[in-house]
Amino acid sequence: MLSYRHSYHAGNFADVLKHCTQLAIIEYLKRKDKPFCYHDTHSGAGVYTVYSAEMQKNGEYQSGIGKLFGRRTGVGIIDHYIDLIGTLNPTGRLNNYPGSPQITLLARRPTDRMQLTELHPADYSHLQSLVGKSKKVKVYQQDAWQGLKSLLPPAEKRGLVLIDPSYEVKQDYKTIVSALQQAHKRFSSGIFAIWYPVLERKATEQFIDRLASAGIPNMLRIEHCILPDVESGMTGSGMVVVNPPYTLKADMEIALPVLDKLLSEGMSGSTVLEQLTEE
Ligand code: SAM
Repeated sequence: MLSYRHSYHAGNFADVLKHCTQLAIIEYLKRKDKPFCYHDTHSGAGVYTVYSAEMQKNGEYQSGIGKLFGRRTGVGIIDHYIDLIGTLNPTGRLNNYPGSPQITLLARRPTDRMQLTELHPADYSHLQSLVGKSKKVKVYQQDAWQGLKSLLPPAEKRGLVLIDPSYEVKQDYKTIVSALQQAHKRFSSGIFAIWYPVLERKATEQFIDRLASAGIPNMLRIEHCILPDVESGMTGSGMVVVNPPYTLKADMEIALPVLDKLLSEGMSGSTVLEQLTEE
């Protein structure tokens, strides 16, 4: 079952949090000359056209990048993200929104490597044409959980693993915990960033508790809800980052209130920034 298409959701408030976090981590990895590896488990199509029927259907991007594009916030990691979107839209009109692979493609150095897994045939094929033929960037039409086993650890021994399932298969909430435990055993120095939706508060907290009890040290939770909790519907999203850069918590302390002010509906948003497990 692969009915989820990210093109309907690209650029929404959840993508803003995810992609700001991703970019902040990539920039941190670039502080050392040594190349890194970026591993994307659920890559999507790579880039999205804002005026496509899919993105226009519910106009979700208007809750996210639509409110930020072309703005200056004075916050380094947010402005850097907005600038990166700007490079994809040189006319000054928001025509293209990058997926997670494109964010790294634009930010990485020629020596940094990328390995991207995506199962959906159409998204795989878009991604393949986006990256073209490059020795440093490989696209695999492979199951995310298999890819974590077969492609990690990377030769570079440093890098970011982005785990961004659609959660259309409810089992994903359980699979993530065991897949993360195994992947962390193979690549314990790696930074892992797991995206999660806030759909129903009790279930969200149960998922976070399971992650926090997985026996993995040094996990940071970053969450932004644009609306108060309700019975159903996505009111927010978060990232759990394993081995976060030491700069990330301080960056998010500054960024989250600004994102909340700019993206929340009628000042009813909330944020969480907490060390889930100790170093
Ligand atoms: N990471 C992307 C981004 O930020 O631009 C969005 C990814 S989207 C939330 C999830 C993607 O995972 C979809 O494109 C879907 O086709 C793909 N997918 C779902 N199950 C998968 C699996 N088991 N293995 C690999 N890809 C999968």
